[in-house]
Amino acid sequence: VTTFWCELAWLGGHTAAANVAIEVAGDRITAVTADSPCPADAVRLSGLTLPGMANAHSHAFHRALRGRTHGGTGSFWTWRDQMYAVADRLDPDTYHDLARATFAEMALAGFTVVGEFHYLHHGPGGARYADPNAIGEALLAAAAEAGIRITLLDTCYLHGGFDDELNHTQRRFSDGDVEAWGERVAMMTGSSTAKIGAAVHSVRAVDPTSITAMADWATKRDVPLHAHVSEQPTENEQSLAAYGRTPTGLLHDCGALTDRFTAVHATHLSDDDVVAMRSNRVTCCICPTTERDLADGIGPTAAWRESGIAMCLGSDSQAVIDPFEEARGIELDERLTSLRRGTHQPGELLTAATSTGYRSLGWSDGGHLQIGALADLTSVALTSPRLAGTDAAQAVSAVVFGAAAADVHHVVVGGRVVVAGGVHQTVDVAAELDRSIWRMWS
Ligand SMILES: [Zn+2]
Repeated sequence: VTTFWCELAWLGGHTAAANVAIEVAGDRITAVTADSPCPADAVRLSGLTLPGMANAHSHAFHRALRGRTHGGTGSFWTWRDQMYAVADRLDPDTYHDLARATFAEMALAGFTVVGEFHYLHHGPGGARYADPNAIGEALLAAAAEAGIRITLLDTCYLHGGFDDELNHTQRRFSDGDVEAWGERVAMMTGSSTAKIGAAVHSVRAVDPTSITAMADWATKRDVPLHAHVSEQPTENEQSLAAYGRTPTGLLHDCGALTDRFTAVHATHLSDDDVVAMRSNRVTCCICPTTERDLADGIGPTAAWRESGIAMCLGSDSQAVIDPFEEARGIELDERLTSLRRGTHQPGELLTAATSTGYRSLGWSDGGHLQIGALADLTSVALTSPRLAGTDAAQAVSAVVFGAAAADVHHVVVGGRVVVAGGVHQTVDVAAELDRSIWRMWS
């Protein structure tokens, strides 16, 4: 049994508890005691300790684009061409190294679980690797080595658009049909720190018959199902033209909208879409830093909150990897559109960043500091120039609105210390990022 003693810990609500002893046996929390003196043999965690944070939507390889696309002009669609240029160059080996460094950056930023929305399955031109899951297995290995939990959301991608052929890059994404996708995914297995889930890339890339089959597949196996939904108005227009349904309406017709379903982005929703999401207890995953970068728009988070639609968050394109920037982005973007402050309270934003994200990724026993939960912890220092002077009574809002990824000093995943003193314990993160990214561009 290891005891972590926290100067302050967020146990839910809008304030932090003081002097909290968290006992851990194996990968579980076995006791949580507030107002406890620090035991002599405890690991002392200064600042504010949170449950581990969930990055519910990630494409690891997009990390290679950071700083190379963000200063440009154009739209989501011109950015996508640049992203495909990187996808064209990856193989299982280079992707492993890039993902290992990227997942380690996530751990360093306080993320303890990642939902990897993985669609780059095959070799150039769609050629099969000897192991058809060579890249998926490389991602699972990368997460294990970086010390972060993963839900590999193996993504089905069959069409280049509503009536487009697959282009050269997209042939790497496609299994040909949904049966072949399901057979390939069934060959992978999880572990105590890895789960295999499913994702519909979008209603652009998967036809309704195949979406219906995927919804059945996910239900039979009791795994999470995610999809990109209405990130761009163009997708809505094309979906209406092709099927007479919005993307949400189409997913609903296919039986995909359930409490295991997460709609990623869900930026441009009709009132009927919001009703369908609410009545089927869907989770929405918002990715504020990516949605800003790609000029997607601002999602209707006030309507979700009012309807009781649960929210989680993701770093998606890795424009930045910072759970605090994503969490406050939900509220700060809402202020810009509503001209009103305080729609989303700090405790609610932390719930989005922790337990809702865990649940969306199939880890409903994570994201809480409570007995029986996964022993995943993220500690944030309150002594940096950003947070010095914080009032302990307001530490939760100070961290949500003022912290940066660099303030995370200690990260525990399944009882194992992954980051200590702001240093990743097994990966030289900056050096590995530098090496793996330059390999993509040289
Ligand atoms: Zn995405």
